Amino acid sequence: MQKPEAHKPRMNRHMIWAENEDFTGWCCSHCLWGLIAPRLETTVAALAFNRVAQEGFDKHACLSGVQAETRISPPYLS
Ligand SMILES: [Zn+2]
Repeated sequence: MQKPEAHKPRMNRHMIWAENEDFTGWCCSHCLWGLIAPRLETTVAALAFNRVAQEGFDKHACLSGVQAETRISPPYLS
């Protein structure tokens, strides 16, 4: 018996690890979703953060076209 997984759109999106002086954390390959990583001093902390990031990533709905419509300037980029 298979459950229809309507809440899980099959998209090619995936998490991308970004690391530069303005932003360190996970981004979405398809939209502007992002999660800034706190200072992760231990492997345990990093693994916990990655799990939270994965859950948040799974739940977020990609806003298609958001990049083309408006350029969002998060505070950390200013
Ligand atoms: Zn997305």
